[in-house]
Amino acid sequence: MNNLIDSVADLTALRDRDELEIIVALVMFDSIGASKIVLWRVVSRSGELQLQRRALFDGSAGTLSNILSCEDDLPALDTHKELRACFESRSCLQLGQDDGGQYGYVFPVLNERGVIGFLEIYRATPLGEDQSRLISGLLRIYWNHLRILDYSENDELTGLLNRKTFDEYFRRRVQPKVQPAHGLNICAPIPPEHFPQGDRYPWLAVIDIDYFKRINDQFGHLYGDEVLVLLSRLMVSTFRETDRLFRCGGEEFVVILEQAETSVAAQLLENFRRAVEAYRFPQVGRVTVSIGYTCIIAGDNSSDAFGRADQALYVAKQNGRDQVRSYEALISENVLHTRILVDDSLELF
Ligand code: GH3
Ligand code: MG
Ligand code: MG
Repeated sequence: MNNLIDSVADLTALRDRDELEIIVALVMFDSIGASKIVLWRVVSRSGELQLQRRALFDGSAGTLSNILSCEDDLPALDTHKELRACFESRSCLQLGQDDGGQYGYVFPVLNERGVIGFLEIYRATPLGEDQSRLISGLLRIYWNHLRILDYSENDELTGLLNRKTFDEYFRRRVQPKVQPAHGLNICAPIPPEHFPQGDRYPWLAVIDIDYFKRINDQFGHLYGDEVLVLLSRLMVSTFRETDRLFRCGGEEFVVILEQAETSVAAQLLENFRRAVEAYRFPQVGRVTVSIGYTCIIAGDNSSDAFGRADQALYVAKQNGRDQVRSYEALISENVLHTRILVDDSLELF
């Protein structure tokens, strides 16, 4: 019991979701003497519910891992009949014995909207009522903790991810592992020959509402706020599920396009600009945005990449607003110039 309380206390101190999922699986595994545990998450892609495996602990193989299912090829929830049934009933289902004679169960991970995941458990003997209650209780603690994490990661007004999360997300997920050569501290921007060519890359775009101050001045702060909320919804409906959307302060937003070819990144951003231009905001009417974007490259940190996109945004603002400008294209066109810091002191142009 003391061990269990210690484990739960450790679990609620975690801030990283991947780590949290592993620890949840491990605490369950230990506390009920399972032979195998799988933690699934339900994700919605293009209207279809799919399954993403988040953690797997197989006692017979002696492995604990967060072997994530391949992002591009997730199985549909409908292909796993037991999980589908658990999704519908929102209650624990017994799976019967597997090939090795182990008793299988699936528990739903629930939030107020429904089932957001599953815990699949196998063990040598059937689960007692106390053990089932223990699992359900631990899953509730897990879900409550996820909710607190969501709360601290999202912007209150728009529900998009907040500025703090942007820096953290960039550091953990986006920042390429390769560092610039020793002695050459690459500061934004970077010489064009270093830009990735072809293929798919992550991109960072800064989106800024044009003349937003006028909207506040003319219609009041509440209408200004409503524009921010509606624009955020347009972002959610225009960008892809894999893209990350942030409100980075005031009327400024950041999008990280996880992996996209150059032409796809340009098209997605242009589609968004057009969607805003075509939208009629209640009372306010027509609103436009200016967008600057850049390819995220080896050695980048969030402020370098943001700085490059911001330079492109500045050009968009100077040239009449309501447009999308690429930092890399502006370098090639000699509108912007590269700047390299050598040993933090000497600037070369
Ligand atoms: P530009 O086209 O150059 O971007 O002009 P702008 O007026 O959009 O930019 P500026 O930076 O001059 O003004 C931004 C305004 O955004 C000023 C501030 O009052 C307003 N603002 C910042 N945060 C909020 C918010 O949460 N709600 C509302 N309603 N307004 C906000
Ligand atoms: Mg603005
Ligand atoms: Mg601004």
